[in-house]
Amino acid sequence: MDFEFAAEHEGFRKELRDWLAKNLSADLCLDDASDDRVASDRETFERRRAWQRVMHAAGWVGITWPREYGGRDAGLIERVIWDEEYTAARAPVLPGNMGLNLVGPTLIHWGTDAQKRRHLPAILNADEIWCQGFSEPGAGSDLASLRTRAEDTGDHFIINGQKIWTSGGHIADWGILLARTDPGVPKHKGISCFLFNMRQPGVEVRPLKQITGSSEFNEVFMTNARAERNDLIGRLGQGWEIAQTTLGFERGGNSMARVTRYASAFDHLVEASKKLSRGGRPLLDDPVVRAKLGRVYAEMEVQRYAALRVLSALQKGDSPGAASSITKLSYSEFEKRYYELCLEILGPYGQVTDGGLEETTLDVDSSSGVRSSWAYAFLWARAGTIYSGSSEIQKNVIGERVLGLPKEIRADRVKA
Ligand SMILES: Cc1cc2nc3c(=O)[nH]c(=O)nc-3n(C[C@H](O)[C@H](O)[C@H](O)COP(=O)(O)OP(=O)(O)OC[C@H]3O[C@@H](n4cnc5c(N)ncnc54)[C@H](O)[C@@H]3O)c2cc1C
Repeated sequence: MDFEFAAEHEGFRKELRDWLAKNLSADLCLDDASDDRVASDRETFERRRAWQRVMHAAGWVGITWPREYGGRDAGLIERVIWDEEYTAARAPVLPGNMGLNLVGPTLIHWGTDAQKRRHLPAILNADEIWCQGFSEPGAGSDLASLRTRAEDTGDHFIINGQKIWTSGGHIADWGILLARTDPGVPKHKGISCFLFNMRQPGVEVRPLKQITGSSEFNEVFMTNARAERNDLIGRLGQGWEIAQTTLGFERGGNSMARVTRYASAFDHLVEASKKLSRGGRPLLDDPVVRAKLGRVYAEMEVQRYAALRVLSALQKGDSPGAASSITKLSYSEFEKRYYELCLEILGPYGQVTDGGLEETTLDVDSSSGVRSSWAYAFLWARAGTIYSGSSEIQKNVIGERVLGLPKEIRADRVKA
């Protein structure tokens, strides 16, 4: 396995790095690269929308999209480099992330020409912000059990039901929505997928407050809401297949960017351990702290090489398949341990300081109770073990499809 990037890829890296150095203003930068604030933060939303437009004008968003749809036909390696450089520059999360990474690629694959013409340019330019309306109370891991109904009236559909955990629903203009169109067939077959206007009568978005104190998720209630016939993606009843495409883009993830983020947090942690003292000695002189830092560094390197291995497989045209569950399980559980250790080493400072040991504290958003990027990252790390398939679901996949163990016995498959 060759760990070096080719000269053309290094050229791409330099071009992006130089462009970001010239165009990214300091007031837009995150306090440190470990700061993984989400796309829907209200306070910074308009400034980040303007930033996405600057990036789009220069050809730096949707880079893997085909040129005919406004992308630059970039390959996987460029995408990884983009993630690394963007993260290392401490550039803020683009508000149109959900559209750029999930909805746009799904539409490019499944959409009609009219749907592509209408939505793709607006996604790139952050004129339309999108959310994903899949999960429901009672239909998360078992998504196919969803109960939101779309009733076919001929020229349009009437939508009734409830979604939950809808990230960015409160800022979204549109959502990609799964709804049941045929309750009389096996559950995977009766689902359809829609482009759904979030700004219409009959749609009520209620923010949910999280453990971090901020509210990026929402409940979405639909009461006689409407989806036009030409907002159906693919065929009636094809929703499950389309959802798998969307979830595939979501799970594809950006594991190298994650490693860049961990590495940046690690540098800050070492800096902090030099400056902070306990019992009159710098923390870094404490053999227990040193051992813990050493262990976490080794684990971080394992994450780096695991991410490179997946990348290398994808680049050769191999699909990591069910083995990608190993990567997902491994990095999301590592991330929890990692930020636990950060807080353990920093002690009370971990609650009040940001990346380095600056005096200032940071408002995550005005309603947030958490005022330190360390504490925020620690709390947020739980999310990775839930979305895109929880850790338990990943273990089931590894057991059944990697190790060939017998299938799990599920309560709904057991005869009473
Ligand atoms: C940060 C974040 C962002 C999200 N954003 C969105 C979004 O934008 N749009 C959207 O539609 N959804 C979103 N979700 C929802 C996400 O897809 C669901 O949370 C996820 O699918 C799990 O479903 P659930 O929460 O209903 O938990 P459940 O499926 O009810 O699971 C509860 C617990 O039971 C365990 N469990 C479930 N089934 C099994 C099994 N068969 N074997 C063993 N254990 C099992 C799970 O691991 C978990 O611990 C988001 C979630 C998070 C955390």
